[in-house]
Amino acid sequence: MNPILSLEQVSKSFGETSVLHPISFDLQRGERICILGPSGCGKSTLLQMVAGLTQASSGSLFIDGQPVEQGSHYVPPEKRPINMVFQDYALWPHMTVRQNMAYGLKRQKVSKQELDARLERLQKLLRLEGLLDRRPSELSGGQQQRVGIARALATEPSILLMDEPLSNLDIKLRTDMRNELASLLGQLSIATLYVTHDMMEAFAIADRILVLRDGAIDQLAKPNELFERPASPWVAQLMGYHN
Ligand code: ADP
Ligand code: MG
Repeated sequence: MNPILSLEQVSKSFGETSVLHPISFDLQRGERICILGPSGCGKSTLLQMVAGLTQASSGSLFIDGQPVEQGSHYVPPEKRPINMVFQDYALWPHMTVRQNMAYGLKRQKVSKQELDARLERLQKLLRLEGLLDRRPSELSGGQQQRVGIARALATEPSILLMDEPLSNLDIKLRTDMRNELASLLGQLSIATLYVTHDMMEAFAIADRILVLRDGAIDQLAKPNELFERPASPWVAQLMGYHN
């Protein structure tokens, strides 16, 4: 089967500054790839290109075998079967949890019945029962992020993008949510690109880890392979080897 997402020699520069060097990789159906790397290495830029929020400087992107970016051909974000979860949740403050979750579905023209069914499923899955009529300010950070995830899943995207979804949470909550998210994503088997600078998170969540450094892929491998056969001194250091 063809991969759900393919990047072929995709690069990004801002003016003279090259942020991502030509990068190629495939995300398989149902696969979770964690993009792991230090702050400023280009992780968010990479996700934003996949989402279509920023255009690549060169290269091609394919979703489900169809080009979404290739030469002058460019499919805008709202036409891509993708949804995104952000670090800062980005919930609408004036809307209830229910309205936030339903927001992305406006364009999809789903029936009221289907909408209710999806919200019902998601409130159970993300343990949001009893919270649907609250506003974001009446929720804890962990609950707000669960709403952010529910909102993204409500549109039933083919690809889920998550940009450091847990980094705004305090350390205890982050550990709890990490395990919860790992189990949730495992159940969903939705193709996911998950950005983090936290190795524990990457190990808990990833089928494969893409180590990004200075805009280039250092290694893309299963977690145990990174540990057993680090491809560079940098990856070795990341895995805790000392020389
Ligand atoms: P990360 O998410 O890994 O922390 P980013 O993708 O946000 O990294 O940023 C990578 C680099 O690109 C940084 O040096 C950042 O300053 C630069 N950058 C990101 N967005 C822009 C922009 N719109 N204009 C200029 N430089 C940018
Ligand atoms: Mg970032």
